[in-house]
Amino acid sequence: MLRLALGNLSKLSRFSSPVSLNRFSAAAAAIPTPNPQQEVYFNKIFINNEWHDAVSKKTLPSINPATGEVICQVAEGDKADVDKAVKAARNAFKLGSPWRRMDASERGVLLNRLADLIERDRTYLATLEALDNGKPYAVAYAVDLNMVVKCLRYYAGWADKCHGKTIPMDGDFFCYTRHEPVGVCGQIIPWNFPLLMQAWKLGPALATGNVIVMKVAEQTPLTALYVANLIKEAGFPPGVVNIIPGFGPTAGAAIASHMDVDKVAFTGSTEVGHLIQKAAGGSNLKRITLELGGKSPNIIMSDADMDYAVEQAHFALFFNQGQCCCAGSRTYVQDSIYDEFLERSVERAKARVVGNPFDLNTEQGPQIDEEQFQKILGYISTGKREGAKLLCGGGVAADRGYFILFFFFFNLHKGQKVQIVSLIFGPVMQVLKFKSIEEVIERANDTQYGLAAAVFTRDLDKANYVSQGLRAGTVWINCYDVFGAQSPFGGYKTSGNGRELGEYGLEAYTEVKTVTIKVPQKNS
Ligand code: NAD
Ligand code: MN
Repeated sequence: MLRLALGNLSKLSRFSSPVSLNRFSAAAAAIPTPNPQQEVYFNKIFINNEWHDAVSKKTLPSINPATGEVICQVAEGDKADVDKAVKAARNAFKLGSPWRRMDASERGVLLNRLADLIERDRTYLATLEALDNGKPYAVAYAVDLNMVVKCLRYYAGWADKCHGKTIPMDGDFFCYTRHEPVGVCGQIIPWNFPLLMQAWKLGPALATGNVIVMKVAEQTPLTALYVANLIKEAGFPPGVVNIIPGFGPTAGAAIASHMDVDKVAFTGSTEVGHLIQKAAGGSNLKRITLELGGKSPNIIMSDADMDYAVEQAHFALFFNQGQCCCAGSRTYVQDSIYDEFLERSVERAKARVVGNPFDLNTEQGPQIDEEQFQKILGYISTGKREGAKLLCGGGVAADRGYFILFFFFFNLHKGQKVQIVSLIFGPVMQVLKFKSIEEVIERANDTQYGLAAAVFTRDLDKANYVSQGLRAGTVWINCYDVFGAQSPFGGYKTSGNGRELGEYGLEAYTEVKTVTIKVPQKNS
């Protein structure tokens, strides 16, 4: 067992006075006081319900982004470990194995038991998530863990309800379809919502009877490994879920190109999405689903409720340190309310509480790591150089850790790199002015991405018109970042391929088998 290296965060002062928090506030949910002096129990590779060192014996450090200090070393898996895990998974998937013989309803029971165990250890998991990722503990507890449990329970309910059809085929035949598991599923997840992305991948795959080799992000391996132990405790047979911490170009690439992996589900950058698709094409044509980046437009019409729209637009961009694939990173505001909206938004951002993730009032913690931190600062310089006006904010918010203060760009024009082209993935808000609905629809769609979009207006006709015109997988009307396990999520264009969550999310994890039976027409 390892002591968590929390460091002395009490020195990290608040950077502004607390204001009313958004709907995920500590006050809104009864959040237990965190005890950051916890232990890390699991830091190895999870294969066959057992803990293994990496074949290479290598380790990688998991870092607390609030301090830059190493929390602990974690086994660093690569191709050799992926091979081991795929063998274990394939073995667990053999016909006649405990997993293949298990009743579908029993898979639902196991998923519900896993949700129970996560609820039991919710405070610990939220603490570990805040330490490893930097997100505020209160948010991890109230938002991430809440959604994790709901996702697993939702898919637990589907386990014995994924049925096929009977088909009125021509001729003397009876035809039906079966929805069967795809097999060995490689799942590669990012660091921005470590536990939630794990749940989104586990839920539908396990409900439908698949086996899993999951690679967790190198920045945030700790909570997923703790959940691995809960998977074992819940009673999933050995080899059904295998979890490998490791780097993308080694462990991740080994999964994507593996000849005995039937499917890959990936969440992360569009750049790596291309590599995954190529690797799948170059190996066994494995099925792929991709959930990639976005540069999502958030459209504020002049008739929108100003207070509400300002708060929602703030939340849409700054939530999770700006590290959301669906962040509302292009805020389009109609010209007649533009000045007031900008002023109010800047006020709101200045009141944002950036600081110690374990302070229950904190709204924003550090960025995930040095690389992202430098990348965001780089975009801010590029923006300034390209003539985008910077309204407020002012750089780095602490003398250690990866804290960045809010920024605002305005007066952006087409062609500026910082605007349309780049995913900043940080607390940098861009406010753009538009005149007409037709214009804003065109500009909103003028991007390679198509993950999410939103429109704020009191006029239902306008809302419907805009939402039909937007080329995005999700459109929110008068709200933002509203997720339910029941409703699908995924991208148009280079934002991805396939859908996660909801009934649609099951499709990626099932093969359709057509069974055709000759029916004798005479009883001789
Ligand atoms: P990334 O795409 O490199 O990492 C995501 C996951 O893919 C990680 O587990 C990583 O180890 C793995 N990976 C990396 N290279 C791989 C490869 N060649 N083969 C297989 N797997 C590989 O993302 P990043 O480098 O952490 O962040 C870069 C940018 O990606 C961010 O700035 C952001 O714009 C975007 N991003 C998007 C999401 C999202 O939710 N869609 C999440 C994280 C990052
Ligand atoms: Mn990367």
